[in-house]
Amino acid sequence: MSAQKDANFATQCIHGGQDPDPLTGSVMTPIYQTSTYAQEEPGKHKGYEYARTGNPTRDALQRNLAAIEKGEQAICFSSGLAAMDNVLKLLQPGDEVLASDDLYGGSYRLLTAVFGPFGIKSRFIDMRDPANVEKEISAATKMLWIETPTNPMLNIVDIAALTKIAAERQLLSVVDNTFASPYLQQPLTMGADLVLHSATKYLGGHSDVVMGAVITRNEDLAKRLYYLQNAAGAVPGPQDCFLVLRGIKTLHLRVQRACENARKIVEVLQKNDLVANIYYPGLPDHPRHEVAKRQMRDFGAMISFDLKEDTLAAATQVMKHTKLFTLAESLGGVESLVGHPASMTHASIPREQRLSVGLTDSLIRLSVGVEDADDLVKDLEQALAAAVQQPA
Ligand SMILES: *Cc1c(COP(=O)(O)O)cnc(C)c1O
Repeated sequence: MSAQKDANFATQCIHGGQDPDPLTGSVMTPIYQTSTYAQEEPGKHKGYEYARTGNPTRDALQRNLAAIEKGEQAICFSSGLAAMDNVLKLLQPGDEVLASDDLYGGSYRLLTAVFGPFGIKSRFIDMRDPANVEKEISAATKMLWIETPTNPMLNIVDIAALTKIAAERQLLSVVDNTFASPYLQQPLTMGADLVLHSATKYLGGHSDVVMGAVITRNEDLAKRLYYLQNAAGAVPGPQDCFLVLRGIKTLHLRVQRACENARKIVEVLQKNDLVANIYYPGLPDHPRHEVAKRQMRDFGAMISFDLKEDTLAAATQVMKHTKLFTLAESLGGVESLVGHPASMTHASIPREQRLSVGLTDSLIRLSVGVEDADDLVKDLEQALAAAVQQPA
């Protein structure tokens, strides 16, 4: 049976929002692969009319997401950016968004290139210091767009401090919780109005689905987002909803293991002579380590580091030689990935601007998976060694 509201996190992952199928007793939520539903007479039906408006597999996932983020309602969309697109449709022309200056590239593009021409202005500011955020708020500001940890510099933003400011100034606070997952932090419990996920990452967890979600406790915001989900129509398909529901059943196990692996990899990188800087919130000398400790259960499985030989060629050599770490965009799957932000996800940002935030030419980003830590460590060590022996 569906878990009670006070059940703990692992129980919610597995049971939250899901009851055996009423028709057959099927323990797993079936994939209701249909576009429409039979009606007995006009307007008399079992609660479902058309699948853009509602689908039982999607409903189960939405209840589950609400449970694991400690929200009341969740609304799913066909991708993380579709979820963001609909959140931004809560605004009016003339409104302004204040967003983190270290932001997912696609979020930056949506804010500037898509919503800019519709009269929604965005400014990108350093959110690490809450006083700086307070200072930047203008009469037009209506929304704070918070990402933490950030990509790829793994900066930490104090969620409770910023949502408090947002509430005092009557701004909507939105936290993109993709990098942490609800296993590590639950922003609604820290005062956020909306939590956003690219379910493509940790929630799905197996690199086989693209999806997004928004979770809230606010009835009015939920109503408006359900309205937009149906009216704008960026809904996920039932098979994808099934895959994310299944992924979430092991979310706590996967993220916990990935965090343990990340810790072991950081220890090895610290001892490696070729490595210059390591960006990982679990290090005591990370500038916001104390905030991370307070608001996160563990420090995540994303690590960035750069090389003493700070060139694209040196980084390329490392990435060419990893065998287990696959060179690919994305993150949060069971398999470990390696990426090069300067040439991949952040290539569109001018070099000077990149360098000013520490995103150097040799910066390498790891999404640590759940393989055996010893194998991951060995793979990285041999790739670093091979890179020195064969300079480009
Ligand atoms: C991937 C990602 C998104 C976008 O999600 P899609 O599912 O790819 O549309 C948004 N925010 C963050 C932090 C992401 O990593």
